[in-house]
Amino acid sequence: MVIKERCESEELLLFRQLYLRMELSEKDKQHYFNLEKGYEGELAFDHMIDHQRSNCLILNDLLLEINNSLFQLDKVLIAPEKVYIYEVKNFEGDYYFESDRWFTLGKTEIKDPLLQLKRSDSSLRRLLKQIGFNCTIDSHLIFVNPEFHLYNSPIHQPIIYPTQINRHIYDFKLNSSLKLNNNHFKLAEKLLDLHISKNPYSLVPKYQYDDIKKGIVCPTCGSFYSGMKEAHLLSCGKCGFKETVESGVLRSVGEFALLFPDVRITKNIVWDWCRIVSSKYIIQRILMDNFKVVGAGKALHYIKKI
Ligand SMILES: [Zn+2]
Repeated sequence: MVIKERCESEELLLFRQLYLRMELSEKDKQHYFNLEKGYEGELAFDHMIDHQRSNCLILNDLLLEINNSLFQLDKVLIAPEKVYIYEVKNFEGDYYFESDRWFTLGKTEIKDPLLQLKRSDSSLRRLLKQIGFNCTIDSHLIFVNPEFHLYNSPIHQPIIYPTQINRHIYDFKLNSSLKLNNNHFKLAEKLLDLHISKNPYSLVPKYQYDDIKKGIVCPTCGSFYSGMKEAHLLSCGKCGFKETVESGVLRSVGEFALLFPDVRITKNIVWDWCRIVSSKYIIQRILMDNFKVVGAGKALHYIKKI
């Protein structure tokens, strides 16, 4: 049972917008690509394991705190026999391991993923003790990409390589008949309560309204629509995707609100943001139909309907 769904982090959603709408530095681009790849790997692992057993509680992407330091858990499975934690990596290509350090084949050292797992494991142990739960924790570093290879890989470490995932899942399923009790549900609820939703380590670069490219972005191919060809339809010059003006404007308002959460949504700003909708009246109608009107005169703006 999935207690906490996986969804894109705010950092990833912001990077997606900034990548389309401004020139990112090479470092920021690399960070963004890593976020996308990491997320893709996590989804792939969810797909492999989530439906395997009904007697476990699944919590994805937990950010927790112990003694003023934060730790992140990609996936927690609370099962009757133990609590499984997974650090999921979507590395692709060849890497090597030497003297407890990890390198790409090009000899660039990377952050030690085993160390990351060990820290998460020990932080979770301390946290569970602090909140009064005594459970066995089983931690794994899992490499999900079939194109990953680690030369000189360490043995007797909690690593699951792509070729071992099926066997791990087979073992995991052996306890399918055990039953969850109230305590397991209480633990899941407690971890959900303790989850910190705003990640202070987000690496999104600074940006301002003037730096950002305006316009409505095609949801299929990510290019900007060049204009409105028909009164109520937007059509992508690149991939041919078509949608109503309303759906394009509403998606763009969502993107605007993500990028500028403190700026009030008004007819003028949405008109400027969407750029290709000629008439402010069309924007106003869409906002009136889909948002709640607050204030009047110059202070009139729109907020989400509850
Ligand atoms: Zn398109």
